[in-house]
Amino acid sequence: MTSPTSKLADLPKKTKESVIEPQDGEALKVLFAVDRSSAPALLNSFVGLSRPPCALTHATEIASVGMEVLRDTHDVFVIDGRTDLSGFASLFTERGTNLLRRVVLVAVDSSAPAWSLPHGAVRIPVDEVTVDTLESILELALERTAFARDLAQAQARYGHTALSCSDGLWFWDVRRDVCDFSDRWRKLLGLPAGGGGASINEWLERVHPDDIEGLRANLDAHLEGLSPGHIFEHRIRHRNGRWRWVVTRAIAERNDMGQVTEVAGSLTDITRRKSSESLLQTDATTGLASRMWLMESLGEAIEALRRVPHPEFVLLFLNVDGFKVVNESIGLDSGDRILSQLGERLLGNVSSNHLVCRYGGDEFAILMRGDATVQDAEELSAIIQDGLNRPFVIDGQEVFTSVSAGVTSSAIGYERPSEVLRDVGIALTEAKRNRRGGCVVFRPDMRKQAMTALRLQTELRQAVDRDELEVYYQPIINLSTSVMSGFEALVRWRHPVRGIVMPDEFVTVAEDTGLIVPIGKMVLDRACCQLAVWLERYPSPDPLAISVNLSTAQVVSSNIVEDVSSALKKSKIPAHCLKLEITESMLIEDTEDAKKVLGKLRALGVRLLIDDFGTGYSSLTYLHEFPASGLKIDKSFIDMLGKTERPGAIVPTIISLAHTLSLDVVAEGVETPEQRDLLRSLSCDEAQGFLFSPPLEHQEATLAVANRHDQYSATMPHTAAPNDGTVRRYRR
Ligand code: C2E
Ligand code: MG
Ligand code: MG
Repeated sequence: MTSPTSKLADLPKKTKESVIEPQDGEALKVLFAVDRSSAPALLNSFVGLSRPPCALTHATEIASVGMEVLRDTHDVFVIDGRTDLSGFASLFTERGTNLLRRVVLVAVDSSAPAWSLPHGAVRIPVDEVTVDTLESILELALERTAFARDLAQAQARYGHTALSCSDGLWFWDVRRDVCDFSDRWRKLLGLPAGGGGASINEWLERVHPDDIEGLRANLDAHLEGLSPGHIFEHRIRHRNGRWRWVVTRAIAERNDMGQVTEVAGSLTDITRRKSSESLLQTDATTGLASRMWLMESLGEAIEALRRVPHPEFVLLFLNVDGFKVVNESIGLDSGDRILSQLGERLLGNVSSNHLVCRYGGDEFAILMRGDATVQDAEELSAIIQDGLNRPFVIDGQEVFTSVSAGVTSSAIGYERPSEVLRDVGIALTEAKRNRRGGCVVFRPDMRKQAMTALRLQTELRQAVDRDELEVYYQPIINLSTSVMSGFEALVRWRHPVRGIVMPDEFVTVAEDTGLIVPIGKMVLDRACCQLAVWLERYPSPDPLAISVNLSTAQVVSSNIVEDVSSALKKSKIPAHCLKLEITESMLIEDTEDAKKVLGKLRALGVRLLIDDFGTGYSSLTYLHEFPASGLKIDKSFIDMLGKTERPGAIVPTIISLAHTLSLDVVAEGVETPEQRDLLRSLSCDEAQGFLFSPPLEHQEATLAVANRHDQYSATMPHTAAPNDGTVRRYRR
């Protein structure tokens, strides 16, 4: 037998690449290690190949073949069958080489001994080789080299980035349980290059303990044929001891029986992506999960419910009441500190499988997983609310807040995270509308209400533009003289189709949208001008006053001081003839800014009245600090009068308290002569109600002014109630 070395000695001394039709960079790299003269047919067949394209390299000596095997740079090796292949076979095996890709064409003649062939080798009689057989054999090689591309395509199927040259590769010969990791794979983990075949544990042992279970499950699912590929993001220990984030992808090769024979995989370092993702996933102010994280988690929870009916989830959405005011009074930085402390408190209240997220601004969300119920969410909301009885302390200053909450659950049946957010937002709006610190659970019929509110909002905007809002005037009577002392200006909407629309239908929407600012200004201007007309036309030693309602939004975020002073200037009415009605809740806002604004208004000489007194929080403590000149007892207390023999304790107490504080008292919603008489006996200063008059259009009001001194005598019969129904309460 000719020694391999001598046989190869005839080959050209330099390894020279002669390319045979390489196309699209997909040429198979073929190492031709057969004496040209001994296998001319084979060589000619290569030259005659039209496809697949090959880049043919001639090996000079058998040692260089070994080198090339080690360097793993060729797809196909054409080796002389008379060469002792046992060395190569072991080389291939020891190297745990990329057997999936490698084809060893063993060019043999009949005299060649039956050496044990390396895995993937094809024995091909030298004299019988034709272009056709060569083509089909090389197609097989091409198929195998395309394996890496298949991986990339699989990645594309899963929406991941394509395999790049910076990815590490691994090939696991399952039958022999040998895994070969490419140098790049090793480098990614800080390991030295080379190292021969290893165990799959080389990889698995490095995986983060929290990720290993998920990784094994994902890989097993693929090996069992349950998934078309294995893709898994996990942490892996670098040689320097640090954790890197990687994505592992793999595809199993099966034999005809469907058994897995080999697995080809890749490893991509995604640490950088992960850290920018975690930046996006975390809210910088509070360190809580971000809105993005919440949306992703909701998406996953919805997706999971598509497959199995459990676990259900509940979303508790929280909004800090009046946070804008907090921000405006203590500054954005301190506001952020409150949000951050609130975040910590929220975290302290939830179990580990709940996700606490800052949704944005003063909005927080808690995704309660693991079959949580809406009752759980309501309880949690109450616990959070209770905790807020403890103030936040910012630079030695105590700040009290409350949160309003909306709740919805997966039981509603959601397809998308945005639907969950929409519904929980509707519930939150409802909670805000009802009272601060409340919690409302979403019901599907609320969607309709929200749609109606949206329509109303649009129409109201148009109404403001089209000047459809009007001012009505309700007389206020001095109870000791029975003479009208002034009016309360009340807004009405003259709707082109529906006729007069009462404020209970639109004031809240106007407040929510900020439209209350232009509407309020209009009422203020018109009321002042109307009063100026009356004062001029019907001069009197005790001039009429006009009361105008102010919403919180007007005090907090508009130029109300300028607006009032310009209304006074334009109308030229004396400042003390203008009374501004504010609600109790505005007192308890208790912020420096609100206080300042009210102080400035008072300094203009206008009078301030506390409206709907008794309906809000116990505001007695605020009364002596507040620069009010009077209060209006809410209708609900007046309603109690006359129902029993005795007036009860509340109304007399309010009146005497107010008088102790030198405040005038107006009774609202007086409907019966008994109520009027009782109020008079209790020394209530003024009264307003259907007993005297409903709110009037300006012409009717002018008539009332003309007859001011005789119209509301003590003997005047009960005036018919208007058709505007009962008074409903408003947040102002
Ligand atoms: P409010 O300021 O407490 O006004 C008194 C409400 O009680 C008026 O309802 C009035 O029509 C009604 N009322 C007066 N006497 C009686 C009575 O004897 N029986 C009954 N059942 N009701 C009586 P209206 O005009 O519907 O206004 C409701 C609320 O809308 C007002 O309550 C006020 O909170 C708000 N509002 C009205 N106009 C304006 C405005 O221009 N700006 C702002 N911000 N709010 C306004
Ligand atoms: Mg009022
Ligand atoms: Mg009132």
